[in-house]
Amino acid sequence: ESIATGVPFCIYDGELHNRALEKLKLESDLYRAFEQDQFELYYQPIVSPEGVIKGCETLIRWNHPERGLVPPDLFIPQAEANGLITSIGKWIIFRTVEKIRSWSVPYGIYISINLSVREFEDENLYDLLLQAMGKGGELPRKYLKLEITESGGMEKPEETIARMKKLSDAGFSIFIDDFGTGQSSLAYLKNLPATTLKIDKSYIDPIVEDEDSRSYLKLILNLAENRGKETVVEGVETAEQLSILKEAGCRSIQGYYFSKPLPADQFESLLANSTIL
Ligand code: C2E
Ligand code: CA
Ligand code: CA
Ligand code: CA
Repeated sequence: ESIATGVPFCIYDGELHNRALEKLKLESDLYRAFEQDQFELYYQPIVSPEGVIKGCETLIRWNHPERGLVPPDLFIPQAEANGLITSIGKWIIFRTVEKIRSWSVPYGIYISINLSVREFEDENLYDLLLQAMGKGGELPRKYLKLEITESGGMEKPEETIARMKKLSDAGFSIFIDDFGTGQSSLAYLKNLPATTLKIDKSYIDPIVEDEDSRSYLKLILNLAENRGKETVVEGVETAEQLSILKEAGCRSIQGYYFSKPLPADQFESLLANSTIL
C-alpha cells in the first residue's frame, strides 16, 4: 500500500480544507482589523446589589466589514496563537487608561481588563502597565484590575507567578476569571496573588431552581471569605437570581439584569446620569 511503497498517502477532505481556508482568511483579516481600527471596546457595569456602579469590565468587539460584530471567543484564541494578542493587549491597556482618566478619576469606579495567561507571560507587561498608568504614580493603581482566565495553562508557572506578584506588589489587583470552571481554579486560588474571584455564570444560571447549585455557590463564597478574597458574580440575568445572591451576601454583581456590555458613549452617559442602575 501507500505506506509500504512510500507513496504519500493523501485524502482530500473538502470540509477540512474549507475550514482551513476560513481560518486563514480570518487570520489575515485579523491583522487588517488591527491596522484599520476595526476593534472596539465595550464596557459592562459591575454593581452592588442595590445597583450602585462600582466598576466595569472592558470587553473587546471586532466590527468586521462583512461579518458584522464578531465576538471575542471567535478571534481571541487565534490572536493568542499568532501573537497578535500582544499588540491588541497593548492597545486595550492604553485605551483603558484613557477611560480611567475620564471615568475612574471623577466617579471613583475601577476598570478591569482581560489578560490571557500568554499576556501575563510577557516580560514587558509590567513596564507597559507602569508606563500607561504613569510612572510617577499619577493614576491610582486601584483603578485598574487585571482579570486572568485559565486558558491553556502556564508554560513556566514559577516565572509567571513571580511576574504576577510583582504586579500585585505594584498595586494592581488580580482577579481570577471564570472561577470554578477549568481545572486550575483551586491551584490558581492557592498560588496566584489574586484579590478577587469572579464566579462563573454557570454557577449562577441554575441557582433559582436547583438547591444543589445554591450550595455550590455558598461553598465558593465561603472559600473566598476563608481565604480573604472578594468575589464578583457573573452572568446575573434575573431578579430572582439577584435576591438569592443578595441573601447569600454577594457584594459585586455583573450581568444582563443590570446591563449588557455598552459602547463607551452609552456607558459614559449611564455614569454621568447616575451611578445607580
Ligand atoms: P469573560 O471575561 O468571562 O466575559 C464575560 C462574558 O459574558 C462576556 O462575553 C459578556 O458579554 C458575557 N456576559 C456578561 N453578562 C452576561 C449575562 O448576564 N448573560 C450572558 N449570557 N452573558 C453575559 P464576551 O464579551 O463575548 O467575551 C467572551 C470572552 O472573551 C470573555 O469572557 C473573555 O475571556 C474574552 N475577552 C473579551 N474581551 C477580551 C480582551 O480584551 N482580551 C482578552 N484576552 N480576552 C477577552
Ligand atoms: Ca473577564
Ligand atoms: Ca468570566
Ligand atoms: Ca469566559
